[in-house]
Amino acid sequence: GKPPENPTENPQQRVQIETQGDHSDDRPHAIVTGGAGFLGSHIVDALLDDGYRVTSLDNFSSGRPENHAHIETARFESVRHDVTESFPDFDRVDQIYSFASHASPIDFRANAIDIALTNSVGTNHALQTARTHDATIVLASTSEVYGEPEIHPQREEYRGRVNPRGVRAPYDESKRLAEALVSAYHRQHDVDARTVRIFNTYGPRMRRNDGRVIPNFVDQALSGEDLTVYGDGSQTRSFCYVSDLVSGIRALAEAPRERAAGAVVNLGSREEVTIWELAETILAALDTRAGISYQELPEDDPSRRRPDLTRAETMLDWTPSIDLETGIRYTVDSFRQQDELRQVPSGD
Ligand code: NAD
Ligand code: UDP
Repeated sequence: GKPPENPTENPQQRVQIETQGDHSDDRPHAIVTGGAGFLGSHIVDALLDDGYRVTSLDNFSSGRPENHAHIETARFESVRHDVTESFPDFDRVDQIYSFASHASPIDFRANAIDIALTNSVGTNHALQTARTHDATIVLASTSEVYGEPEIHPQREEYRGRVNPRGVRAPYDESKRLAEALVSAYHRQHDVDARTVRIFNTYGPRMRRNDGRVIPNFVDQALSGEDLTVYGDGSQTRSFCYVSDLVSGIRALAEAPRERAAGAVVNLGSREEVTIWELAETILAALDTRAGISYQELPEDDPSRRRPDLTRAETMLDWTPSIDLETGIRYTVDSFRQQDELRQVPSGD
């Protein structure tokens, strides 16, 4: 690759430009942290489709350069950057999507401190840049802020029930702090900060070994292995397909400032299923002889989860449209395509 061309005036910053974008036009500029990850890379695509100039800031800890391999426009730039360090300087910033953070529970132990700092210190850096440029910032929060919920479905006013010292705490509690920071910058400095509480979302570009339930089950089913259901499988989740989620996030980012600044909105699917039903759906979609193997339920695993979507509907006129069976089919197809790509010899 090309050597970095003085990307920042601060020599202490370890900034490495992976792909150099074209800064010559005056289009609106969006920054996506975690832009090489699953959700971040789909947001990058949506922004490029809408004419933005886009910079991804990612340390590639769980993100992958392949997630940008299809991008041909010079309006895109990928910068290797750890958001726990202050942001590089930019000439102009219109929108920031603060999406950097490991999100799979299997990472909550090994990367606990990283996660806590990425969501707190990293979000603070994103907010500082938003303040400097008077940009709109969208924070990726999570349904995990509700913890083990006492009300069902969960609406935004609910304050949650989180174990502050549990194995999930570095994630849940740092997202809660990130929300507190977003509210503080909004109140104290009038930053146009908006928060989305994302409920379980899945789709193409999730890593096969991500550890979250849908990539796990699809990977196992494709390999003819039994699906690992944790506990008795009676716990529930509501799974949203990625394109639905991304359209909701873009709607939130584009909503008028008077209506959306400072707002928090749930986004996800209202189709609640048990993990056992999810396993059956995936087995049926693949028509495989694989079965189910029951394993121990992880600590603090929430027993049920479904978003109240009233606010998203009224504020953003948004509702998810892809049902679980269809979304699973798209995901299985994309995992199969990845397999085929890997098997094709790279002959010149
Ligand atoms: P992902 O692991 O695919 O993406 C996370 C990205 O952040 C990766 O590209 C990773 O390399 C990058 N990253 C991590 N730490 C970083 C750091 N310190 N500096 C720079 N980059 C860093 O996961 P995802 O599912 O795409 O999640 C993206 C965001 O959405 C996360 O903030 C997550 O908490 C949130 N979220 C996701 C879901 C979901 O169901 N997918 C649900 C709730 C919230
Ligand atoms: N799960 C499972 N088998 C797996 C992975 C996850 O049964 O191989 C369960 C997990 O215990 C949880 C649900 O599926 O109840 C969703 O887990 P995931 O890690 O995807 O996300 P979470 O909502 O827990 O953050």
